[in-house]
Amino acid sequence: MSSNPSVSPISKRLEGKVALITGGASGIGECTARLFVQHGAKVLIADVQDDLGQALCHEYGSEEIISYVHCNVTVNSDVQDAVDTAVSRYGKLDIMFNNAGISGNTKSSILNSDNEDFMRVLNINVYGGFLGAKHAARVMIPAKKGCILFTASVASVLYGELAHAYTASKNAIVGLAKNLSVDLGQHGIRVNSISPTAVATPMITDSLRMTKEDAEKFVASAANLKEAVLEPEDVAQAALYLASDDAKYVSGVNLVIDGGYNLTNPSLALAMKSLFS
Ligand code: NAD
Repeated sequence: MSSNPSVSPISKRLEGKVALITGGASGIGECTARLFVQHGAKVLIADVQDDLGQALCHEYGSEEIISYVHCNVTVNSDVQDAVDTAVSRYGKLDIMFNNAGISGNTKSSILNSDNEDFMRVLNINVYGGFLGAKHAARVMIPAKKGCILFTASVASVLYGELAHAYTASKNAIVGLAKNLSVDLGQHGIRVNSISPTAVATPMITDSLRMTKEDAEKFVASAANLKEAVLEPEDVAQAALYLASDDAKYVSGVNLVIDGGYNLTNPSLALAMKSLFS
């Protein structure tokens, strides 16, 4: 999605705001970075994929709009430096989007679960988000305002379909976000999480070993909501809403974007179908 000149200044919902997006070089983070810029925000992308992150920024041609910092979210000094860079480069930090994450191994049986993989997933998905929130709060508390967002997952409300490590990590993120919303509310800081179902980003296409188009078809075949496909833009739009003043009293929410998928359990219907077919 490229910058859209048809967006009039009046509809720029993040004008004057500064956002830091972890995992912003790819997928949902990249798409959100583009949408935030389109809506007037200054954006700092923090990622470990330096080439991708820098290439994205070069498209815009000016560090005053969007720039990149290398940041492994599991390294305290990297996250500290990313937050400090946002403040020194753009003057403040209004929006911290803790989005970086990995899926880890896809095996679901506990006996097949790899110990190292479990720790790696928890380290990036949970500890990384914790560090992001901690350093963001450090600069947001004195400002008496701010918005902290996390990308969780439908795995925070749906069980038995995804790996233990990933499910545990995304439940932990939602718990952390809710706890933070209580802790930081007194300082005017809102904290929310976003929980999409499968989106055909590199995380999904790499693990399914499919093209984006085939992955979208595959995911859509299992969806509850038909005639629509969940795209990174839909997740970015949710982040835009939660980051904007339109959501000025919204805190502690886990916004599930799954077309109602987590409410379905087709097991009985499928069993009945096979009984009578
Ligand atoms: P993606 O792989 O396209 O993007 C993830 C980004 O995170 C990459 O740019 C990667 O380099 C970065 N990253 C990974 N480890 C990092 C680290 N240690 N430090 C800094 N950056 C790191 O995948 P995506 O789908 O855009 O994933 C973004 C978030 O969305 C993740 O938290 C993921 O769990 C979540 N999510 C994805 C889906 C989906 O189906 N794609 C669904 C629900 C939730």
